[in-house]
Amino acid sequence: MSLEDMLKVLDRYKQYLKLMNYEGQINLTGGEPLLHPDFFTIASAISQSGIRLGILTNGTLIDDETAGKLAELKPVFVQVSLDGPSETHDAIRGKGQFEKALKGIDSLKRYGIKVLVSFTAMKENYESFSLLAEVCKEHFVDKLWWDRVVTDDANIFLTTKEFKTISKTASKLKSKYSFISNDRALQGLPDKTCGYSCSAGHRLLIVLANGDMMACRRLPFIIGNILTDEDIEKTVRLSPIMNKLSIPDIPSDCKKCPHALVCMGGAKCVTYAQTGKLGIKDINCYRKKPFNPRRNKQ
Ligand code: SF4
Repeated sequence: MSLEDMLKVLDRYKQYLKLMNYEGQINLTGGEPLLHPDFFTIASAISQSGIRLGILTNGTLIDDETAGKLAELKPVFVQVSLDGPSETHDAIRGKGQFEKALKGIDSLKRYGIKVLVSFTAMKENYESFSLLAEVCKEHFVDKLWWDRVVTDDANIFLTTKEFKTISKTASKLKSKYSFISNDRALQGLPDKTCGYSCSAGHRLLIVLANGDMMACRRLPFIIGNILTDEDIEKTVRLSPIMNKLSIPDIPSDCKKCPHALVCMGGAKCVTYAQTGKLGIKDINCYRKKPFNPRRNKQ
């Protein structure tokens, strides 16, 4: 997409927010957004428009000079992906990548930017979460959160037992460190809570580099194109997939669960990647007992 088209998208988004009376936020992501030659022009246009700006990066291109320029944009956060401590991260992303990302985090913190670290849990790294938490603590990370990898590959995807293990680890760490977040699908189950609802179809719209729009970047459905569709509001409103995702639809297996009204069946993207189905209970949900209101403790 050309710079001109990107500025057009920003303009259309502003009109959409006004029409819907929404407060907006744009997260710039990639690939690696800082590799884009017009990154600072578009990020600055977002910042000046009054729309909140978030940046999702691998952190490796951030030095003090770049962090200084980012600070001028006043982003609400910069999120850096770390897939584990040094050896684990480098085994997944390549030699030397961890060190560069960590230097990026230090530069961001020097410039007073709120830093989120995102950990994508998979077979290769799920056991290293607590070591990463210690690294994040040492580097003053503001928030460490995690997601499950979205894949159909059983060699990478967590089994339910593995998912339960990392959920429990994160839950324990959360009671020790306030910067750790378990605010994603099913991650509160060890604490018998579930305060997360998937935002696909509700509060999220993805725009790809060619203008195609999606309800979620982890669900493979194109709902329209922001450059060519005349009326974005109409595209979103009439999209069958947006409607399917937005209408409260509790999977039948979840009906007796006390978390159902918030959880709504867990992470749709994760389960769709594994099964090709929407509207079914999360594939990693290990909550088996039906709700007993008399216990009143769940
Ligand atoms: S049973 Fe369904 S609603 Fe309850 S926690 Fe599991 S996926 Fe969520």
